[in-house]
Amino acid sequence: MTKIVVVGSSSMDLVVTAHKRPEKGETILGQSFKTVPGGKGANQAVAASRLGAEVHMIGCVGEDEFGKIILDNFKKNGVHTNYVKPVTHIETGTAHITLAEGDNSIIVVEGANQCVTPDYIDNALEVILSADMVLIQQETPEETVEYVVQICHEKGIPLLLNPAPARPVSQAVIEMATYLTPNETEAGVLFAGEEPKEAMKKYPNKVFITEGKKGVRFHDGEKEVLVPSYPVEAVDTTGAGDTFNAAFAVALSEGKGLQDSLAFANRAASLSVTKFGAQGGMPTRAEVEGSL
Ligand code: ADP
Repeated sequence: MTKIVVVGSSSMDLVVTAHKRPEKGETILGQSFKTVPGGKGANQAVAASRLGAEVHMIGCVGEDEFGKIILDNFKKNGVHTNYVKPVTHIETGTAHITLAEGDNSIIVVEGANQCVTPDYIDNALEVILSADMVLIQQETPEETVEYVVQICHEKGIPLLLNPAPARPVSQAVIEMATYLTPNETEAGVLFAGEEPKEAMKKYPNKVFITEGKKGVRFHDGEKEVLVPSYPVEAVDTTGAGDTFNAAFAVALSEGKGLQDSLAFANRAASLSVTKFGAQGGMPTRAEVEGSL
């Protein structure tokens, strides 16, 4: 079993469905409401654990009901929570999601995720240094991402930065990260002013641009390669990227080659879109292997 350390966000998604969005000052009736654990960090931790890795989460929740539900959910999914700290002065992060007219609108309140600071990372160095692979996204402070990328670079620990949600990243971080996995929108922000194709060529075997149902593209040093995803009936694509990143990290940490790891990640992500919810659709190892 390989050891994956995820540094990232844990949030509660508060999801309302309605026929339309309220206008300014308007009150309307919605159809349904549910709360589901989310946050890119937590989603990737749960996905990696279901795929058979030993997963340690580094994050923060509030000392409140949502925080307890998130911790319970980690435990149910076999994610180690020694480094998920309930903090007292700020609430658990939340995403307020309205599903209406076939689209979603989201307000994110970062809450306790802001407490995942470089100082906080210093208290978790032991587990980071014991990792086969570190997985990090961009829902924690920018200086934290830079700090973790730098530590892993110095200590020779492979690190996968999923640069989501999109925000500009320093050249140093791009150089130091072992793997970068933007989707097409994020690639545009990451390599602003540069064609994504040129960026892939400049960073062979390092930059992997996910292209939804088409799959994932990278440059192998000689040529551009598209590793196709698997045709499925997509029901809900929320969390496809999170499943992809977790599966890619698990496969790489097990020593699989790049193309095999990407095929495994595509397979896991394609299965995830056949069910509702981000974590709801994340497959187990047996489900991925059974479908290959
Ligand atoms: P994100 O969810 O971060 O926006 P993408 O939409 O690029 O990222 O999807 C990530 C990966 O999920 C893709 O590379 C692919 O493997 C898989 N995927 C996404 N949508 C589909 C789909 N409709 N059918 C099959 N696979 C999909």
